[in-house]
Amino acid sequence: MRALILGGTGEARALAKKLVDAGWFVTSSLAGRVSEPKLPVGSVRIGGFGGPAGLAKWLISDATEVIIDATHPFAEKISESAAEAARATGLPLIALHRPAWEQQKGDNWIEVGSMEEAVRVVADRFSSPFLTIGRQQLAAFAGDSNGRYLIRCVEKPPPPLPKNRKVVLSRGPYDVAGERKIMRDYAVDCVVTKNSGGAATYAKIEAARDLRKPVVMVQRPKLPGADIAIVATDVDEAYNAVIRRG
Ligand code: NAP
Repeated sequence: MRALILGGTGEARALAKKLVDAGWFVTSSLAGRVSEPKLPVGSVRIGGFGGPAGLAKWLISDATEVIIDATHPFAEKISESAAEAARATGLPLIALHRPAWEQQKGDNWIEVGSMEEAVRVVADRFSSPFLTIGRQQLAAFAGDSNGRYLIRCVEKPPPPLPKNRKVVLSRGPYDVAGERKIMRDYAVDCVVTKNSGGAATYAKIEAARDLRKPVVMVQRPKLPGADIAIVATDVDEAYNAVIRRG
């Protein structure tokens, strides 16, 4: 059986391994955003497909039998493409969509609907924010020349960036003690994050709770294709759904 996994997440790599171990021919697709990605087992292709039509064409030429959207919850375009390509080809679509984080006792979240709203909240209320939002939307904060920013991402971020900044390059997962240390060392007064869900980056939320720091939490978009996909919330559930469709 042949599956395409739209990946770029730890869950996508774990699912690729389980399916390959079960004898599936799996191709994992990565966008190509990072120069040294963690590679899944099985076949790997890198780069965009050229929209939904390009993806549908690829699926037909590969003789794919199941499409799995295991991309990050904020990767909306590729999830939309997956849904459109599933409609066009009639192939089953399984979405591995991890649950969002929920506020716990002791958390102080300021929930915002977009990164633009996060920018306004930070400019109005904070002076030393910790941006843990990846690289792609950092430019939204570039107009704030007052804030003293701590920016953490996997690879060197492109300009424009806030004027007063310290950039730390690193890749998770992180632990709570390390997260508390970085927040203390840089005297951050809030954490800005997307509601990615999952365990790999949750330590910053626990550390912010421990240190009583507010978290500016960007809410996630609705899953595009939720109407057509079988939605699984973890790797085992997705694996079982794939096996049933195979
Ligand atoms: P996006 O905005 O949804 O996608 C933009 C375009 O990039 C898509 O239209 C597609 O190009 C291409 N693309 C995206 N993911 C792809 C994949 N897995 N394989 C092939 N092409 C892909 O995506 P994004 O938010 O930039 O995320 C890119 C990748 O990084 C995804 O694989 C995602 O899982 C991973 N990631 C994203 C985030 C995040 O916060 N957004 C965080 C961690 C990891 P075409 O239209 O040409 O096909």
